[in-house]
Amino acid sequence: MCLKQWLRRSLARRTAVVAGGVSAALAAVVGLVIVGAVLGDEARELRSRVAVVAILAGALTVFAVVCTVWLTLRRLLGAPLGELSRTMAAAEQGNFLTRARTDRSDELGDLARQFNRMLAKITDLQVESVDDRRELSHTRQELEMKAELEARLRELTLLFEITKTINSQLEFAEVLRAITQKASQALGLEEFAILIMEDDGACLRVRATFGFPREAEIEGMEFSPGEGISGIVARSGEPCLIADTSKDDRYLHYKGRHMVDGSFLCVPIRYQERLIGLFNVLRPRSGDSGGFTPDDIRLLTSLANAAALALANAQMVERLRELSTHDELTGLANRRLFTQRIETEFERAQRYGGVLSVLMVDIDHFKDWNDTHGHPAGDDVLRKVATLLRGSVRAVDLVARWGGEEFVVMLPGTSKKDALAVGEKMRAACEATRFPFPAQSGADAGEGRVTLSVGVAVYPDDGKSVAAVLDGSDRALFQAKRAGRNQVLGAEAKGAPKAGMDAPFTSG
Ligand code: GH3
Ligand code: MG
Ligand code: MG
Repeated sequence: MCLKQWLRRSLARRTAVVAGGVSAALAAVVGLVIVGAVLGDEARELRSRVAVVAILAGALTVFAVVCTVWLTLRRLLGAPLGELSRTMAAAEQGNFLTRARTDRSDELGDLARQFNRMLAKITDLQVESVDDRRELSHTRQELEMKAELEARLRELTLLFEITKTINSQLEFAEVLRAITQKASQALGLEEFAILIMEDDGACLRVRATFGFPREAEIEGMEFSPGEGISGIVARSGEPCLIADTSKDDRYLHYKGRHMVDGSFLCVPIRYQERLIGLFNVLRPRSGDSGGFTPDDIRLLTSLANAAALALANAQMVERLRELSTHDELTGLANRRLFTQRIETEFERAQRYGGVLSVLMVDIDHFKDWNDTHGHPAGDDVLRKVATLLRGSVRAVDLVARWGGEEFVVMLPGTSKKDALAVGEKMRAACEATRFPFPAQSGADAGEGRVTLSVGVAVYPDDGKSVAAVLDGSDRALFQAKRAGRNQVLGAEAKGAPKAGMDAPFTSG
């Protein structure tokens, strides 16, 4: 470090040098004046001696002045200023709780006090800023909560509106239509399908669609449990989100009939632990998370829950309606539905001069089957015979369970000859069928035979009213029974027992 820098770094040093310079100059001038004045030209030797002494005295004085000034300034200015500077450095580092010494009453003391007040102000400002920040964070939290609450309220209102609409419908198809329309509108869904679990859980069938370019190709499509994403969700009962369908082989693109990729969400519709069906939603992808936000998933899940109740109710209404017109055991039309339908067909036949045949079908010696193999095995026979009868007629015909082990069949536009042929087809089919029965009271399980007796009557030949034709077929059946069973007889016809056919049924 050079001398100049060394001097510049200390006030005391600089003042001491200035004071030293000034006093040295003064001392030199005063010394020369004194020496010149006192001694004159004659005493040269003495003069030079006095000059030496004067120079030494001057130098000493200068040294004393320099030291005094330096020490005084160092003590009075340098030390307190150094301390103040250290305090300021600490404050600069962020320590605003530090304070300068204020035990002096001079200007430096004032400066220290001023500085301390400034520090106190900064500390207050800091506290205020912390408070402000806290308040800001509270306000932000409150705003976030408010936004969240508003969003939830919007969701609830939406759900309420949708639920109100879908619950006002009783028809299953109408409920499905209301859900697809309302949900697609409200949630801005581009593509939406509802699959319903049918056939006692054997298949998932697409029952409602929205937004598909070729809806007819998708409607009615079936998925078995475990097949594709829908099948997987049906098994697990948990929603499934595929962020990018192009990267997931499990997504089947509706068996290749809808080759559009995006994000796919499948949400189960569950009611009291029972899977009613599924919501399938496809959306264009956006961002890494796909097309669905957590809010979308929550809302669709809530909607599925709301839909579950409406669909379960509609299914129940459908079931009750079905029960009021159909037989629960066999699934055939019941006597009430048959009576309604035959009245309509009878009127048509009367109006257009057509024919209408009726077959009364009764299982032979069914009581014995029940007694031998048990009532449940009897129920199985009734179901199997029902299927067999239904399989023997056209779509326009109607097979109904008349009661007990008796069935009635209506064949519009069918002559007696053809009706007898249909009856014979039924009889022969039943005779050829083997009916299983379970092991019972020591006897092994096995298969047995069951036969049918059929009575046929036709409008207008055998009766001019529904009651008359039904009565005619009943009488014909009675005659078939009397004639030995396992045969088909027309009304008023005389039947003869078929050889070897009198046995009610044979087992094995
Ligand atoms: P037939 O040849 O004269 O018609 O004799 P059958 O034994 O078939 O006639 P019967 O009227 O004596 O008996 C009818 C039997 O049908 C009695 C009843 O237990 C049975 N049955 C009626 N409804 C049902 C049913 O829903 N399930 C079962 N398992 N049996 C039924
Ligand atoms: Mg019978
Ligand atoms: Mg009977």
